[in-house]
Amino acid sequence: MSTNENSRFETRAIHAGQQPDPRNGAIMTPVYLTSTYVQDAPAQPREGYEYSRTTNPTRTALQENLASLEGATWGLCYASGLAATNALADRLVPGDHVVAGNDLYGGTYRLFTKVFQRYGIDFSFVDTTDPKALEAAMGPNTRYVYIETPSNPLLSLTDIEASARVAHAGGALLVVDNTFATPYLQRPLELGADLVLHSLTKYLGGHSDVVAGALVGNDDGLREDLAFYQNAVGGQLGPLDSFLVLRGTKTLAVRMDRHCSNALAIAQHLEQHELVERVFYPGLESHPQHGLARRQMHAPGGMVSFELAGGVPAGNAFASATRIFALAESLGGVESLVEVPPSMTHASIPPEVRHAAGLSDGLVRLSVGIEHVDDLIGDVNRALDAARRVLQTAKA
Ligand SMILES: *Cc1c(COP(=O)(O)O)cnc(C)c1O
Repeated sequence: MSTNENSRFETRAIHAGQQPDPRNGAIMTPVYLTSTYVQDAPAQPREGYEYSRTTNPTRTALQENLASLEGATWGLCYASGLAATNALADRLVPGDHVVAGNDLYGGTYRLFTKVFQRYGIDFSFVDTTDPKALEAAMGPNTRYVYIETPSNPLLSLTDIEASARVAHAGGALLVVDNTFATPYLQRPLELGADLVLHSLTKYLGGHSDVVAGALVGNDDGLREDLAFYQNAVGGQLGPLDSFLVLRGTKTLAVRMDRHCSNALAIAQHLEQHELVERVFYPGLESHPQHGLARRQMHAPGGMVSFELAGGVPAGNAFASATRIFALAESLGGVESLVEVPPSMTHASIPPEVRHAAGLSDGLVRLSVGIEHVDDLIGDVNRALDAARRVLQTAKA
């Protein structure tokens, strides 16, 4: 039952960080619903456990599991993905500068511009798919280069190795939001990143039943610093939520294989359709960074975005007509979801900023689940018919 670094990903996903209970053999890590821990003598906590804001055994198991999957030495788990991003930003002081991607997760953009900009932190949002743009945005006070690859919702890729070179040349840390890819498909630390951030709410949890986040890395000083802030500020992940994510990671590999094969089939299907102007999926040869996808990722993931002819009305008609794809924000669960970024997840980004970043009004985003692919394609066809009817009515 013991695993080591030599075990393969699928094996570590199931076992890393977890041992059967030595007293009764319980194979699953218990949900340690406890706030405090009895000490053997004053200031002698057992295995360092004093108080659950600081550490909790269920959270420890998850942190070790995630670290193993990312090829990291440590992990810290937070109450949400944004709480993890917040923890990074807490380390900055007025005058510090962050270079970030220009089609980031909407909530990350909101946290940076509406919260931390007020505290005197400067942000530059650039097209990180171009390492030269990244380089040009670097300044003497740049502390983080913060990238998402694949990005949300346009599925554009940023070269992690090239970004690490630019960040390190400027004395900054490279942070990669690896939520869309998961460590099964992409391991940024092996490519030179300093920190990996996850919304565990998505693929790692995998069942749309928990909100959680994580940071993982290899630098012990950074871990100490972040653990200090987590203990000082809070925002840690609770034990039941830790258990749910731990259960999710056990099946990550098999789920991702199916997410990827279903997504590729749907992307290829959409690409053939006359109402679809563009499909964004790194697994398509038409994707401008298909070569980078093959170098940097083991497979292209489960997210597919596309532009419908007919703008917002067509996108809304599509998203309202599906029966299997549920109309909802979020992604990465076993069930398929559809959403229209301009009105939903990316509504907090001003239209002119959105358009400049290439997010058109007819944009539709699919989180392709692990249902049977033929049922999913049938559902897409039904929704495309609904979009066509809207277009025909508009023309008539
Ligand atoms: C959802 C998401 C986040 C934020 O995570 P929460 O768990 O919702 O706080 C950050 N980055 C990406 C790419 C996401 O999809």
